[in-house]
Amino acid sequence: MIQSVRGTKDILPDSIAKWHFVESIFRKVSAIYAYKELRTPIFEKTEVFCRSIGEQTDIVNKEMYTFNDKGGDSITLRPEMTAALVRSFIQNNLATANSVQKLWYYGPFFRYERPQKGRLRQFHQYGAECLGSPYPESDVEIIMLADSICKTLGIANYKLMLNSLGNAFSRERYKTALLHFLHKIKNELSDDSKIRAKTNPLRVLDSKDEKDIKLLENAPVLIDYFDEDSNDHFLHVQNLLKENQIPFEISSKLVRGLDYYSHTVFEFRNDYLGSQDAFGGGGRYDGLVEQLGGKHYPAIGFALGVERIIIILESLGMFAESIENTDVYIAPLGNEALPLASAAAQTLRQMELVTVTDLNRRSLKAQMREANKLNCRFSIIIGENEIKHRTFIIKRMSDGEQFEVTLNDLKQFDFTQ
Ligand code: AMP
Repeated sequence: MIQSVRGTKDILPDSIAKWHFVESIFRKVSAIYAYKELRTPIFEKTEVFCRSIGEQTDIVNKEMYTFNDKGGDSITLRPEMTAALVRSFIQNNLATANSVQKLWYYGPFFRYERPQKGRLRQFHQYGAECLGSPYPESDVEIIMLADSICKTLGIANYKLMLNSLGNAFSRERYKTALLHFLHKIKNELSDDSKIRAKTNPLRVLDSKDEKDIKLLENAPVLIDYFDEDSNDHFLHVQNLLKENQIPFEISSKLVRGLDYYSHTVFEFRNDYLGSQDAFGGGGRYDGLVEQLGGKHYPAIGFALGVERIIIILESLGMFAESIENTDVYIAPLGNEALPLASAAAQTLRQMELVTVTDLNRRSLKAQMREANKLNCRFSIIIGENEIKHRTFIIKRMSDGEQFEVTLNDLKQFDFTQ
């Protein structure tokens, strides 16, 4: 038997209702915040991601699905959306003077990671990006959009972790101090952190290694190196969040993995997820549009992991057993009844009634068993008599009451009774 690729999952019909539910909330809340959907291809030229996410990040270094296509171009299945969205934003001239573009997206993403609970190689993200404002109010609007989605989904028990990486100037000043500190403890760091200390020192702060965490307790703190602009921005974001009664926790070690972030970064966490406790995150990326060949265009965005959201909602018992809702079951008796059964089914479907008819020429008993299993509200049996008179007996399943109608009158029958 051929199995699916490791780290990928089929979404089967009995769980699709969960996906439709979360997708409908993404659409609804995005619209309330006046965000418009953007869809891009699931693969891009590899340089879209290399030039933005950063060569020295785990995503680009280890996790991308990259291959040469038959024309010899290097192609990558998108590991995240921001870079692809910015590519599309520039290419389609979506940047207009003095305007803010508010976009959202939803779809599959691909990373070659070690699969475990809540970590897949093909997973889904919903995200939103607000491009064109350098101001803290856009940071807060985007955080509030994410927060509204969580609340509308019914997730209340999460933590918003907040930090600021400051502007490039502050970050450079901090990097010097951090490198100095890391140099002193370099022999005791984990192997991963030793490499990161050389290639991407800020990411050492993100280490999940217990010993590293202990060693980093005394590391210099980023905000101590902030200039006025960085300080103002961060304080303004915090004040606006307080104003809106959005609780948050400042986590000075939250740096997030990618190179393009500046100022505000944030993450949503939920204890139920275990070691993969983040179910969403984002940040400001003021330099990215320019880095990918556009004009200077400040922006901020976030992404939520849909598989992790579904795990949280399941843990909260949010999904009741979904009940099939079939309106009418049509049971043809014998092959002569098939044309009339088919015509009746067609009429009912044109009336937008969920209609099922037997496709396996089974006995009446077997068909009625299925009608019960499907929880049908009405059934129609089509036998010799019905064919002769072109009339039907419609049976209401809840109380067994029967109604006689002609094929022509079927359209007028009240199936809500
Ligand atoms: P990131 O783009 O890494 O900031 O991820 C944003 C969110 O996407 C995370 O908080 C997760 O919920 C989700 N996510 C990222 N990588 C994976 C993965 N390999 N499997 C499942 N969900 C993921």
